[in-house]
Amino acid sequence: MGQSKPKIAISACLLGDEVRFNGGHKRSELCTERLAEHVEFVRVCPEVAIGLGTPREPIRLVGDIAAPRAIGSVHNELDVSDALHDYGTQMAEQLRGISGYIFMQKSPSCGLYRVKVYGPKGLPEAGGGRGLYAAAFCAEHPDLPVEEEGRLNDPVLRENFLTRVFAYADWQQLLADGLTSRALTHFHARYKYLLLATHPEQYRALGQLLGGLNKHNLHELAPRYFSALMEALQKCATRGTHSNVLQHISGHLKQTLSADEKTEMQQLIEQYRRGYVPLVVPLTLLKHHFLLHPDRYIAQQVYLQPHPANLSLRNAL
Ligand code: SF4
Repeated sequence: MGQSKPKIAISACLLGDEVRFNGGHKRSELCTERLAEHVEFVRVCPEVAIGLGTPREPIRLVGDIAAPRAIGSVHNELDVSDALHDYGTQMAEQLRGISGYIFMQKSPSCGLYRVKVYGPKGLPEAGGGRGLYAAAFCAEHPDLPVEEEGRLNDPVLRENFLTRVFAYADWQQLLADGLTSRALTHFHARYKYLLLATHPEQYRALGQLLGGLNKHNLHELAPRYFSALMEALQKCATRGTHSNVLQHISGHLKQTLSADEKTEMQQLIEQYRRGYVPLVVPLTLLKHHFLLHPDRYIAQQVYLQPHPANLSLRNAL
C-alpha cells in the first residue's frame, strides 16, 4: 500500500455540501464516516464550478444517446454541454494525483452509468448515458478506478473499488520512487495472489508480458502492464477464486502446521467457500499462522491486506 492516504475525488454533494440544483445535498454516510478516515477527499461540483448558481434550474441530457447535450429543463436555450465537457478535461489535468473518483449517480453532469437521456419524443432512451463532466474526465483517465456512490453499497463492488484505489496509489508510489525493471518485477510478484483471485488468466498473460522486459522497453511496457493490471482488477473475485487462493497460500504452511491445524484451516476455507463464514475468518487464521511462521514471499503479498484492515471490507464478503 502507498505510504500516505490516497486522494479520491468526489462529487461535492456526497460530502454534504449544499450544492445541488435545489440547494440540498446527498451526504453519503459511507463516504463521510467510513472512508474519510482512510482517504483524502477532493470535492468537486462541476455545475457550481461552471457558474450555475445554487439553487438553479435543473439540467438534463437530451438528444443523441451517443452524444447527448446538457440542456436546461425549463429554458431549453440553456446549453452547458461544452462548459461541462471543458471543465471535465481541465479537472482531469488538475487532479493527476488522485487514485480514484466517487461520482454521484443519475446526475447529468456526474453520473457514470445509465443517466437518463431524453430522446426526440421527450422520453428517456433505453440504456441511458454518462454525465458530461464525468465522461470528459474519465476519457482522460482510462485506468483510474471510478465508481458511483450508490453502487458502493454492494459489499463486493465496494471492496473491489477500494482494492483498485489502493493498487493505483501503490503504482503512483512506485513511479514516484523511480521506475526500474526490478521495481516493476517486484510489483508484479506482490500482486500475484490478488490477480489469481480476480483474473488468473491475466496474471499469466502479464507475467509473459514482463518476460520480455529489458532496459530499452521499460518505459513503453510499464504503462501497458499497468493498464492491463487495472483492467484485470475490475473483475470481482468470487468465493470460488478466493478459496483457490486461500488454498495456494495455505500450501506454504504445509511443512509447519500440525495435522490438526491443517484440518482446521481446510474446514474454514470450505466453510467460506460454502458461504457460512465471511472471507475474513479463514484469512485471519492464515495470518495468525504466518505471524508464528513468517514467510517472506507471503508477507509481501498485497492479497493479504489490499486496503486498511479497519475498513473491515472483507467482513462482508
Ligand atoms: S451531482 Fe455533481 S453537479 Fe450535481 S450537485 Fe453533486 S457534485 Fe454538483
